[in-house]
Amino acid sequence: MKKMLTAFTLVAVLTAASCDPTNKITPTPEDTFVKLADITYQLNVYSFADSDGDGWGDIKGITQHLDYLDQLGVSAIWLSPIQTSGSYHGYDVLDYYSINPKLGTEADLKELIDKAAEKNIDIYMDYVLNHSGRGDWFNSAISSESSPYRSYYVLSDNWSADVYAGRVDNFVGSSNPYMGEWHSVSGGDIGYKGRLHFLLDWNAKTVTVTETSASAQVSNASASKWLWIGSGSLVGLYETSSGIHEITIDVNTDWGFLVRSSSTSWDGGTKWGGDGSSITFGKPFAINNTSPADITFGGQQIWYFAAFDSSMPDLNYGPYAEASQSAAFNDLAKSADKWINMGVNGLRLDAVMWIYQRRASANASFLKQWYDRCNATYKARGGKGEMYMVGEAWEETGKIKEYYKGLPSLFNFSYWWTLKDRIGRGKGNDFAATVLWFRDQYKPFRSDFIDAIKLSNHDEDRAGSDLNRDKNKMKLAGAVLLTSPGKPFIYQGEELGYWGTKSGGDEYIRTPVKWTVDGTVPSAGLNGKVDFNMLTGSISVEYQTSHEESVLNTYKKFARARNTHPALASGTMAEIACSVNPIALWTMTGGSETLLVAHNFSGSAATVSLSGYKLNSPVVANGDISVSGENLTLGAYSSVVFKQ
Ligand code: MG
Repeated sequence: MKKMLTAFTLVAVLTAASCDPTNKITPTPEDTFVKLADITYQLNVYSFADSDGDGWGDIKGITQHLDYLDQLGVSAIWLSPIQTSGSYHGYDVLDYYSINPKLGTEADLKELIDKAAEKNIDIYMDYVLNHSGRGDWFNSAISSESSPYRSYYVLSDNWSADVYAGRVDNFVGSSNPYMGEWHSVSGGDIGYKGRLHFLLDWNAKTVTVTETSASAQVSNASASKWLWIGSGSLVGLYETSSGIHEITIDVNTDWGFLVRSSSTSWDGGTKWGGDGSSITFGKPFAINNTSPADITFGGQQIWYFAAFDSSMPDLNYGPYAEASQSAAFNDLAKSADKWINMGVNGLRLDAVMWIYQRRASANASFLKQWYDRCNATYKARGGKGEMYMVGEAWEETGKIKEYYKGLPSLFNFSYWWTLKDRIGRGKGNDFAATVLWFRDQYKPFRSDFIDAIKLSNHDEDRAGSDLNRDKNKMKLAGAVLLTSPGKPFIYQGEELGYWGTKSGGDEYIRTPVKWTVDGTVPSAGLNGKVDFNMLTGSISVEYQTSHEESVLNTYKKFARARNTHPALASGTMAEIACSVNPIALWTMTGGSETLLVAHNFSGSAATVSLSGYKLNSPVVANGDISVSGENLTLGAYSSVVFKQ
């Protein structure tokens, strides 16, 4: 007779096991279990939880929801960039030493670090080293050849000649450097102080600026077109005839100006600028919203390189072998010291393959210098063990392995690409071998590598969309993630079964957490781009917490298994050869125990005969599992772990 392992019998078995003093399994209430594992939660600060009702998620919001993260079983949180930046997502940092006021204060961060530490949760910051935003550093760099920031950026008068002659350190030796573009700006004295008349011809998309002594006007509060000028002033224009908008104002700007067709949004083509050249007084100047450069008042043309976007000029660290000697490196490191000394225990490094344009060995050399510098600060502070640092090199495993010479941990993008492919094909029996192959690639470069495994992240279509919004597939993916070797990252919303694609904007893969069945979500940080059709009451934390079979509870129970079993938390994986196509089988051994892990990657029940393995002591399960003698039957997309 088949023995059905329902949720009820599973709990009963675990409870019985906990009475045995020789057995290490000690299931305890979810809010007090130990955390053997190093599960990390990837969190978008701007959309996680809003403490003050301004529509932006914020640092205090995280502190208020630490219980949620604790009960989910995480021991670290990777925060999206929190430094002052020019965008909602934060990857164009304007000041590495300050906190974005929309997200909170330094005191808020310190409070989060301290409160999280009470729950044994580390805080990791996102550090953007490839590029900065166009803030004070950049504006100073292009303003004068004697600027102390001149060397911080990849600047050139004649970039093609400089690249050809090998004078651009970011490019030297790169066989494929050309993601990105050179952009031009007006360097030197680009600002203006005095009274000016602006005439915006919206029909012709030109702006004509004239020096004038006419009376200055006040900003038009009910304007439909604005100037963005000086240190953060928004000036409303007056429509004087159809499509003609004008104003006379006193100007004091050290960078020029931009035209805006929205007073609330910078996105969706609402930002209008020039082509990088300067205006000539009295002459119409063409504006565009596809690649809008600051409209300046003079100076000389200067080119800068940006791998990603004109708003993100690449930083320059000089020849890679001596990067730690460069002024930019030392300034960035000094800023990191500040946060590490405050209690930050790890960093996630953005876009590391582009620091030296896809040159793995050069980037690894740079990253080793960066890691050593930060780790020294961490140790001087009294941090435990070695500082954690994970790099984002968005390539296949075979191409990123060399980066392990520089960093202890790297995201394994191929892990998710493989998993979603196999779930899509209903094929599980080569999964363990593939994971082991990934790990074999890394070993020659670092024996103690930390394989940062993940499903999708903030730059990819949601795992839920890749899995056809199928909750059973999402639960399977979570269970596989939490039973694989490595350091798992759970991306905000994944544990709730979110879906979303980038097609309507990246905001749709960065959706806020819906905490309660009836509550609102913070959407201002996402420019209102939130899929409210997805955010029904039943996808909320409140609803899923009280429904045993929810995606959230599946994540919780597998996280709890990982946190209470050393074999799952830090054990060694071994493949069990399996001729049944849909079934993935492996063992995890560590801490004097061995666990058998089985998943069914297909939508039909599948049975495997397991001679020599014990099938009578389940640790955790999801879906329909049944055992008959040596036969283990896994229902569609189900998972189970047995103690051996
Ligand atoms: Mg807020």
